[in-house]
Amino acid sequence: MLDFTLTPEQEQIRQTARRFALRDVLPVAWRYDEKDDIPLFVLKKAFEIGLMNTDIPVQYNGKGLGMLESALMTEEIAAACPGIATSVFDNSLGLEPLVLSDNQELKDKYLPRIAGSFKLICFATSEPTMGSDVSGIRCLAKPDGDDFILNGTKFWITNGGIADYMTVFATIDPKTKHEGICAFLLEKEWDGVKIGRHIPKLGQRCSNTVGLHFDNVRVPKENVLAPPGKGFVLAMQTFGRTRSIIGALAVGAARSAMEYALEYTRKRRAFGMKIHNFQAIQFKLAEMYQKVETSRLLTWKAAHEADSGQDPTISASIAKFYASEAAAEVADDALQIFGGYGYTRFFPIEKLLRDIRLFKIYEGTSEIQRIIVSGHVLSNYQPVMPPLDELPLNRELDPDQVQALRKKGAFAWRCRICGHVHVSEAPPEVCPYCFFPQSAFNRVDL
Ligand SMILES: Cc1cc2nc3c(=O)[nH]c(=O)nc-3n(C[C@H](O)[C@H](O)[C@H](O)COP(=O)(O)OP(=O)(O)OC[C@H]3O[C@@H](n4cnc5c(N)ncnc54)[C@H](O)[C@@H]3O)c2cc1C
Repeated sequence: MLDFTLTPEQEQIRQTARRFALRDVLPVAWRYDEKDDIPLFVLKKAFEIGLMNTDIPVQYNGKGLGMLESALMTEEIAAACPGIATSVFDNSLGLEPLVLSDNQELKDKYLPRIAGSFKLICFATSEPTMGSDVSGIRCLAKPDGDDFILNGTKFWITNGGIADYMTVFATIDPKTKHEGICAFLLEKEWDGVKIGRHIPKLGQRCSNTVGLHFDNVRVPKENVLAPPGKGFVLAMQTFGRTRSIIGALAVGAARSAMEYALEYTRKRRAFGMKIHNFQAIQFKLAEMYQKVETSRLLTWKAAHEADSGQDPTISASIAKFYASEAAAEVADDALQIFGGYGYTRFFPIEKLLRDIRLFKIYEGTSEIQRIIVSGHVLSNYQPVMPPLDELPLNRELDPDQVQALRKKGAFAWRCRICGHVHVSEAPPEVCPYCFFPQSAFNRVDL
């Protein structure tokens, strides 16, 4: 049985996040977007009121909440500012490899610290020359006794400039591709860790994005999250769980674009009436609402799969690319409803449009999600219908005629080129439709 009713605890989490979004995030969002800066005190507040790191298991003093709760919170915060919401959730992205890691001592050491005090942890796979192809990592981890020496650069790292800890994916040899990839937990203060300048961006300017450079950084064996050969799978498992949250970010941002547009249609007049009287506008609102609702359903499904121990990879990919693209369409329609004012900085749509644009890029582009989902459809999907060549698709005979012919031992012959079905004891010399010879006919059940 399906039940989309939230528990009282989940509803409370949603309301807490909504209050935080309206009281703490919304009032600073535009100013910090203008400044191209992160309001760190807002992230600290999110931590203090329990809206950060919620997925740390209870045994490490965490809340032990699931992806569905993360989706609920993220939707609310993203509705006020997608950039701030990205930075709040980034801690879960950064610590997910630690939660999934087999290194028990590392979990015991860092997870309670992150749960108990305001500590930021970023996630770093991407590099200046590589993002989509995670097997193409160049950042080098040279074994040195039991330790590793790290050299290389990571790029586009959300919260990289303010994080205390860093989850870093590297390779022992770039030529070995997937097999060489490993992962480590680094501390910002370690010798050789260098932080690049804040990267100026089109949108999500309230989130911090930098490059990280590692210059002979010694990583003790205790800080290995995944040994060589296990890092690639760890990165993919992480994305499989966290990608649904990009869906939640998109739902929240699209919801706000829709709400602002809805209100505007009730105020703006044209041709002597409020513009919500025009069917062209009403249909836009219907489609915006449809996209928000559909995106939320897909996001919740993926989050539910992650929480119930199923493999959420495909659902999370679908949620991410559907919701990201739907949100971009919703924001574009919202801007159209605002007319010229939508194109100005006097109204919130242009910021939402800029912020939303990133959803199609980070944590795997829309193209990469299509590769994942098409790979599933082509290789793993189990069809219910019989193969096309086995379908009689008989249009010329009534069922009782078919019965009679069956009794007589007649067959159906299906042309594998054009699909024509010929009923008789033998196939025709030539197909009467496509003129292919008899050999083109396969026998099928009548
Ligand atoms: C603001 C921001 C924050 C980010 N935060 C983080 C972070 O915290 N941590 C982190 O590790 N990374 C982060 N990223 C990096 C992000 O994940 C990458 O930008 C993304 O994965 C795409 O990689 P790329 O930019 O190198 O593009 P490329 O991989 O170079 O791709 C370029 C284009 O080619 C397409 N393409 C690539 N391969 C294929 C293919 N096989 N078939 C079809 N099309 C293909 C891509 O879809 C894209 O359109 C962030 C990026 C941004 C912009």
